[in-house]
Amino acid sequence: MNEPNKTIVQTNKDVKDGQNKCPMCGSTDISTNTQKGKLRCNFCRHEFEVEKLEGMVTDLENLQGEVLASGAQDISASAEDVVTFKCSSCGAEVVLDTSSALNARCHWCRNTLSQNQQIPNGAVPDVVLPFGIDKQVARDEIERFVGKRKFFAHPQFTKEFTTENIMGVYFPYMLVDVNSHVDLKGQGEHQVRSYTEKEGDHYNTYYDADLFNVERKFDLIINGLTIESSLDRLDKHNKEKTNNIINAIMPFDIESCAKYNAHYLQGYSSEKRDTNIDDLKEIVGEQTKDIARFSANETLKEYDRGVRWDNENLKVKGQQWTSAYLPVWLYSYQEKKGEKSVLHYVAVNARTKKTMGSVPIHMPKLIAISAFIELLGILGIIFLEDFRFRYLFALIGIIYYFVMYARYRNAGARHHYETQTKTKMNNLEKQDQYVRRETRLSSSMMEGANNKSIHGESTSKRLVNNLINQNGIASAIKKQMEQKKDE
Ligand SMILES: [Zn+2]
Ligand SMILES: [Zn+2]
Repeated sequence: MNEPNKTIVQTNKDVKDGQNKCPMCGSTDISTNTQKGKLRCNFCRHEFEVEKLEGMVTDLENLQGEVLASGAQDISASAEDVVTFKCSSCGAEVVLDTSSALNARCHWCRNTLSQNQQIPNGAVPDVVLPFGIDKQVARDEIERFVGKRKFFAHPQFTKEFTTENIMGVYFPYMLVDVNSHVDLKGQGEHQVRSYTEKEGDHYNTYYDADLFNVERKFDLIINGLTIESSLDRLDKHNKEKTNNIINAIMPFDIESCAKYNAHYLQGYSSEKRDTNIDDLKEIVGEQTKDIARFSANETLKEYDRGVRWDNENLKVKGQQWTSAYLPVWLYSYQEKKGEKSVLHYVAVNARTKKTMGSVPIHMPKLIAISAFIELLGILGIIFLEDFRFRYLFALIGIIYYFVMYARYRNAGARHHYETQTKTKMNNLEKQDQYVRRETRLSSSMMEGANNKSIHGESTSKRLVNNLINQNGIASAIKKQMEQKKDE
């Protein structure tokens, strides 16, 4: 196959670095008005109109090949993080470390200097979604979330918990649009009846079902699939950091993104991107397939016992990448566990207020109370002889333990991209061909049904581990070479 044709859209043609002045009064003291998501001059209160990113493909039916916004291009290993500005007011030289900040104050004349041009170190994105809720609102949300999880919270945590120091952080993401054609072939089952038969002294339930050959073909457009583009954030299965929490507060209203301007970052911290499109392509591919499978489910309602796809074919006609900063309010807490520690997060989506978190558990208390409930359950089985369902009490304490653990730690929380990403299905072709009636089936679901399975998660786990290993090796080699140079 040929390399797909690649188009790069320059997204920062007319921007310049250094002083970005308010057109009304000339002040450089400009920051986000979170009520409106607009930039505002802090001196004369002038509000700037939101600038939209231009030049990207908007009619995604016609998206062909690979289109990328210039801020999504590969990071170059030789790019410097530190840039030097010459202040245009007083002539002083101001040094800015772009890996941690994209604005700096001139220490002589107090003007703000901004990095607006893209440098190939991953620090400057194409678009930014402005903070839409302020710190106090985020503090209230975090306090409410933790307040509902007080009983089993670790006493050390309860003692130290304060939302005073929460941080507003812009995390890096890739927004991906996909124009694809999907072709799925397999078999599906529709239940005709179910019946119960007495065999010996117990009852068995059986099912009769109609089996069909099923095929679905359609064009699928995916708008703004959102992928973490910092390796640390992608690493959602890390046992020492509850990164899945930050994933779980998606989706964002990315259609409200503004063209990047460093003033949006004033007062917030940011984390720069450290992955390239090639690193993320396979994850995007698997998530695209998951989204395709779930889109097809809309057309499979009659197959109530499920569908088993034997052949899944997805052809990507076009893919478009934009790099973005999305806003998150973050509370973090380091739980010491002997030698090890776990970093717990409570995160608030700074647009939708969606909040998710992980609260450290006081395990002795949870285990003691679960054991007590288990004991009551066993007593129930012994004493409630006449109660028909008394054996349900056998696992009650263990179930209580897992429900509480999940409620405090939310270890399984994630963004459900397969149903929450914007999609459009066109040119649907359906084939449903009756094969035969099957009788006396013992399972209520079709054997091997896979139309509701997800592959993106396991793929991303594997790929992220690979990337972390590669990065580890790469940085080790780099260190060795630097040491040799010094000698
Ligand atoms: Zn002004
Ligand atoms: Zn100056």
